[in-house]
Amino acid sequence: MNEYDSELVRAILSEAGYSFTEDAQLADVVMLNTCSVRENAHRKVYGLIHDIRHGHKGKPVVIGILGCMATGLRKELIDNKSLGLDFVVGPDSYKRLPEILRDVFEKHGQGYDVTLSEFETYSDIYPTRTGGVNAWVAVMRGCNNFCSFCIVPFTRGRERSRSVENVLDEVKRLIGEGFQQVTLLGQNVNSYHHEGQDFAALLEAVSRIDGIRRIRFTSPHPKDFPESLIRVVGENPKICKHIHLPLQSGNDRILGLMNRHYTATGYLNLVEKIRKVCPSAALTTDIIVGFPTEIAGEFEDTVRVMKAVEFDSAFMFKYSPRPNTQAARELKDDVSEDEKTSRIMRINTLQSDISLKKNKARVGTIEEVLIEDVEKAKGGVAYARNDVNKVVALPAGNFQIGDFMSVRIIRATPHQLKGEIIS
Ligand code: SF4
Repeated sequence: MNEYDSELVRAILSEAGYSFTEDAQLADVVMLNTCSVRENAHRKVYGLIHDIRHGHKGKPVVIGILGCMATGLRKELIDNKSLGLDFVVGPDSYKRLPEILRDVFEKHGQGYDVTLSEFETYSDIYPTRTGGVNAWVAVMRGCNNFCSFCIVPFTRGRERSRSVENVLDEVKRLIGEGFQQVTLLGQNVNSYHHEGQDFAALLEAVSRIDGIRRIRFTSPHPKDFPESLIRVVGENPKICKHIHLPLQSGNDRILGLMNRHYTATGYLNLVEKIRKVCPSAALTTDIIVGFPTEIAGEFEDTVRVMKAVEFDSAFMFKYSPRPNTQAARELKDDVSEDEKTSRIMRINTLQSDISLKKNKARVGTIEEVLIEDVEKAKGGVAYARNDVNKVVALPAGNFQIGDFMSVRIIRATPHQLKGEIIS
């Protein structure tokens, strides 16, 4: 979502007459588009601000913070004199950036706007994309779920969706620019709804656009996965058969404390329904270990669900409290660091074995891949993705980024497939 938002910011500032450089040393203004999900992200950002200011020889540079940290840490960012930030702008206020920057330059004061909006969807801004084979398209913003460990509802506000027509206009324009793959984005993408149209209807409408070959989406919430959505994903050939379905925990008490609105059984039933309609679907997930009060037996429930589902891959985290979340306010972070480490190592090994088994099962199959990157050095390697979002490494050949190629899978590791070109 931040990559997409950076593209929105580019469009807004280009319209206002700004041009861009990737080299912070050359810039008059540096903006850091921040995320609050990872632990200690703010320390990294503070270090980066220091490096930019001190590496910037010659004229002074104007530095601003955008994104979730702007809303989540607004007071600290604005008051911290040693950071010396010139502006702090939250995810719903990017249209005000030209005005805020003008004030910073003319009045030499500090600019900020961290207001959260119930309506802002940026549906009137066409993002300035900078290449690649995939175009992100945010179809909804914000989140109403308030998972107890998550800061997003506080930093990005309530859910709001763009109209189907508005999303279709953007995708048609992207096709005209040569994109063949879009990823529909939202903090809780499958809770998309606009004037009676739900996410399944949106996916179908996007798939009817001429020229679109692949549609991906992220991230759905298990509680918003009706049969109609499963059917569209399973039956529509343009919708990639990859579903990222965050589990977080396999224990019902912990899921309750996390405020996730499903049980382990409910989750497993959903997986069964998905696999019935769409047996080729790759499932990936997010898991948190060591949530406050999680005892060993409850962690074992997570292991059990992982073994039952056999995810293709998983993002696995040790719990750490995020300031101002419900879990940080109400629950003591009482699982020891050693215990969290031992639990995460255990599921890392488990998942690695499962991923390898899943990937090995693809050896010998013929797959269509989209070339994403070509490294010409040392004989050349190309990286592509198959329909289920797995990376396939190939020897560089007579093809370019953006080409669809047919490949035979010849080797597998837990994180990657290796292939050879057929045509
Ligand atoms: S669904 Fe939960 S984890 Fe995802 S953004 Fe919303 S509150 Fe955060």
